[in-house]
Amino acid sequence: MSSTRYESILLFGAPGAGKGTQGHILGQIPGFFHLSCGDVFRTLDINSPDGREIYEYSSRGELVPDATTIKVWKRHLDALTVLSVYKPYEDVLILDGIPRNRSQAKILEEHVHVLQIVHLVCPDTEAMIRRIRRRAIRENRADDAHETVIRKRFEVYEAETRPVLEYYPKSSVSDVDAIGSPAEVLLKILKCVVPVQNAHFRHELPEE
Ligand code: ADP
Repeated sequence: MSSTRYESILLFGAPGAGKGTQGHILGQIPGFFHLSCGDVFRTLDINSPDGREIYEYSSRGELVPDATTIKVWKRHLDALTVLSVYKPYEDVLILDGIPRNRSQAKILEEHVHVLQIVHLVCPDTEAMIRRIRRRAIRENRADDAHETVIRKRFEVYEAETRPVLEYYPKSSVSDVDAIGSPAEVLLKILKCVVPVQNAHFRHELPEE
């Protein structure tokens, strides 16, 4: 692989489509490393300048400005790499929640090589809103607390994030039906991503 760009698979889909759930499970499997941009943001100290700015936008359901998003995300990824928590020569990076607009997709090209986009498709917006409401209670999330904020996030997804799909070649986008139990959806995702992983990484067990 190239020395500077990380081999990556994007988990893509509307809020509540299950990117976080599936990314978390995938990240437990050797050879995959999951990084959610929203999770990176939530690790920040809310009283720090970056933390305050991110809270200001995310609590309104708006996108955080690109410069802050990329700076904070890259800093976190670099730290994980330096600590060898993420090992770029062993693990496919599963990116979730980034890029969220075309400009981020362009900036990201410098840092990651996108092998595939797994598009979690869920045409039932109301079902996704119900999922988000359950998560709001479970995780105490400010961006999920009010119906108006949730609806705003869907608007932002349609206007800014969905067009990101057109940024990449059609052949690299795999549509996956996001309806079903986490295990059912996982099965469908694995069918897409395992061949891509095998094509780019050789995983041999060390000899006993
Ligand atoms: P979800 O999983 O519901 O899509 P996330 O946890 O990914 O939500 O993100 C929560 C909030 O953080 C978003 O609504 C947005 O305000 C902000 N955010 C996350 N990722 C990005 C990004 N790549 N660019 C701009 N804002 C982002």
